[in-house]
Amino acid sequence: MTDRLTDPEARGDDLGEASLRPTRLDDFIGQAQAKANLAVFVQAARARGEALDHVLLHGPPGLGKTTLAQIVARELGVGFRATSGPVIQRSGDLAAILTNLNPRDVLFIDEIHRLQPAIEEVLYPAMEDFRLDLIIGEGPAARTVRIDLQPFTLIGATTRSGLVATPLRDRFGIPLRLTFYTPEELLGIVRRGAALLDLDLTEDGAAEIARRSRGTPRIAGRLLRRVRDFAAVDGTARVDARAADASLTRLEVDARGLDAMDRRYLRLIAERHGGGPVGVETLAAALAEARDAIEDVIEPYLIQEGFVLRTPRGRVLGEAGWRHLGLMPPKGFQADLLSAADDTDG
Ligand code: ADP
Repeated sequence: MTDRLTDPEARGDDLGEASLRPTRLDDFIGQAQAKANLAVFVQAARARGEALDHVLLHGPPGLGKTTLAQIVARELGVGFRATSGPVIQRSGDLAAILTNLNPRDVLFIDEIHRLQPAIEEVLYPAMEDFRLDLIIGEGPAARTVRIDLQPFTLIGATTRSGLVATPLRDRFGIPLRLTFYTPEELLGIVRRGAALLDLDLTEDGAAEIARRSRGTPRIAGRLLRRVRDFAAVDGTARVDARAADASLTRLEVDARGLDAMDRRYLRLIAERHGGGPVGVETLAAALAEARDAIEDVIEPYLIQEGFVLRTPRGRVLGEAGWRHLGLMPPKGFQADLLSAADDTDG
């Protein structure tokens, strides 16, 4: 997955990302609803001099969850500490992080749905009462030690709120859902990025990149940097829509922002499974991808754009999917599709 240019997950060559990361709520384009809510709660917490309530950010990778968490800490004027679910292996690891927080600090846990259950248990009293109940020793000699913590704000991020254990989810006072960005919002992000990178990008050039960014700022930033590379090598001083299109086509990002992997996925359903329904496990095996990667990374955008539908019986190619491949759906396919369309799976 990591060699995909349109992979919304962070890649090794995303070093340039930091320079494009907005640092204040006012610089953060899009997600109007989440932003408006956060602005109110941050202001209230500041006025009371208390820690902000715990926040759960939910949405596909690359939409700005980490960025928002950093912004919240900055707007609160407190410290920021980041870790992730799979990194915390033992309850002692979590205890060490929690006991080192300063009052009202923000602790960011990425991929919080991947915390081990035993670690979640430690987190509950910490979130609720700012205390740790640690068990020291084993067997009959085991005893519980209670440690008081400074009040803090936990900001959890997940691509799958359905996989966050209910008791954990219930302890977040502020659940916020991030959605794919509109082309207009992405246009603003691309314009801002071009200015920061000192790239002479025309309005239609920016629109071309925005339209092909899969609704995702991380991808917009990445495409922008690659377009800039082509311009530098080709000696293009001013990047317009034609230059942007030429670069993106060379990168195999098509007019709708889909890449080779997206098209393989769609073609698999169309050509080998007659348009579906087909189970996600079957697709994962055929594409040699992990099921999680299919569900978290490839599918969300394809589903939102109607290329594919998630039904109780499996994935079904949508009207837009057939059209994108330049194929005709089989006769009677539409009726079948409508009766099957029901988003209850996963
Ligand atoms: P997530 O944590 O959801 O995977 P990040 O917060 O790491 O996503 O964002 C990925 C990159 O996208 C950031 O480095 C930043 O450059 C860019 N980005 C995200 N949201 C915005 C936004 N609203 N405006 C501008 N750039 C953004």
